[in-house]
Amino acid sequence: MDALPVFLKLRETPTLVVGGGDVAERKIDLLLRAGASVTVISPTLCEAVMRLHDRQLIHWIAEPFHPKALANARIVIAATDDRSVNRAVFEAAGEKGIPVNVVDQPDLCTFTVPSIVDRTPVIIAIGTGGASPVLARMLKARLETLIPSAYGRLAAIAKDFRDQVKQALSTVTARRTFWEEVFQGRVAELVFAGKDGQAQKELRHMIEHADDATYERGEVYLVGAGPGDPDLLTFRALRLMQRADVVLYDRLVAPAIVDLVRRDAERIYVGKEKSNHVVPQGEINQLLLELAQQGKRVLRLKGGDPFIFGRGGEEIEDLVNQGIPFQVIPGITAAAGCASYAGIPLTHRDHAQSCLFVTGHLKDGSVDLNWQALCQPGQTVVVYMGLTGLESICREMVRHGLDGTTPAALIQQGTTLNQKVIAATLETLVDEVAKNQVQAPTLLIVGNVVKLHDKLAWFIPESPLAQNAAIHEPGRGGNDGL
Ligand code: SAH
Repeated sequence: MDALPVFLKLRETPTLVVGGGDVAERKIDLLLRAGASVTVISPTLCEAVMRLHDRQLIHWIAEPFHPKALANARIVIAATDDRSVNRAVFEAAGEKGIPVNVVDQPDLCTFTVPSIVDRTPVIIAIGTGGASPVLARMLKARLETLIPSAYGRLAAIAKDFRDQVKQALSTVTARRTFWEEVFQGRVAELVFAGKDGQAQKELRHMIEHADDATYERGEVYLVGAGPGDPDLLTFRALRLMQRADVVLYDRLVAPAIVDLVRRDAERIYVGKEKSNHVVPQGEINQLLLELAQQGKRVLRLKGGDPFIFGRGGEEIEDLVNQGIPFQVIPGITAAAGCASYAGIPLTHRDHAQSCLFVTGHLKDGSVDLNWQALCQPGQTVVVYMGLTGLESICREMVRHGLDGTTPAALIQQGTTLNQKVIAATLETLVDEVAKNQVQAPTLLIVGNVVKLHDKLAWFIPESPLAQNAAIHEPGRGGNDGL
């Protein structure tokens, strides 16, 4: 972060704007909206600023800028088209330690003015550190449409009842759950429908019946985080990620996704490597249970889909036995994500009428699969955790009747900026993989549909950010994970 966003209280505070043109007018308007006392120094004023002066909303010093004008200003904004004046303002403010903003000259700013979505008392500020005001405006436009204007009224009502809720509920957790219910439930709906009076009545009713136990019940969210690209999360996943008190995640969940979890949620890494489980499965199950029993909202983030080679079932079994409420949120499984992003349709009328998902995990050093079932014509086989056993898998498939020229692809870190697709055949894939330095996780797809990759590939990342987007920490190359 290059700057810390803060909200400045300027009510009746002296502020100075240098310049009296259109640009200055926009800044003056903002300062007036914040209740500031605005002095404008400029030999002339444009019509709009003159009108403000006529209505006695601003003070006007009809002179060129001089440092004395800064005398008691708490902040200063320079909005002139004269670069030497702007610099003079910057230097004079610097000497006096007054925060200064020079419009459109980020290097002459000690503070910047964000784009604002105003739902007073809710205010959202969007800044790009001067990198792209246009982007900030676009984001603002999006948020404007996303956030009902009634949120301002809702927040004002909440403020009036804050103390009563504090008295009714004794713990922070209970109070937070209570307010979330208010903002997501009937009270909010009533405000959105313009029925503020009824909303207040409902809120009063809720407070009268509130007790700590009701609002302190823990819960577990078993959430599929998808294969890597954060854009592939579901809305529900994101919503629960924003509610969690604590998150348990492993190395299959991309850092960019963990970043989307509520900022002050506790983060617990229970990462697994193939033969070196950082936290044994039994302990993860136990941890989920204990955290929920403490009244926490526990987010268990899983790569892909929790019920596909994800041990999701095992993790919630104890919860069922102990009567802990939970939700399971599906995610895009690696097969679907990698196939789409590699341009390999898993089924296709001409090539494959069915698709099998299997695990290539080694048992006692060999891959133990129903080869007969895997080597049927007209089907696609997707192998999870198949890198270590790759050679054996390819060999066995040929031994059990598939042609050596059957197309096969290994997809590294599908859907991330580190995605790489190595498309070959059952005979040649092992050599091709050996030539490339592949990094876990990888997915193997076998079948005629792989031929379509050449034609349908569309996601071909070249970004220099690739290393940051990696699912796993550097230096763990070649390990097939889980
Ligand atoms: N529950 C997960 C699978 C967990 S098993 C899901 O539904 O996707 C772990 C295996 O998933 C890895 O060994 C790898 O084979 C596969 N995998 C997960 N994410 C992947 C990705 N982004 N690219 C390639 N393979 C991936």
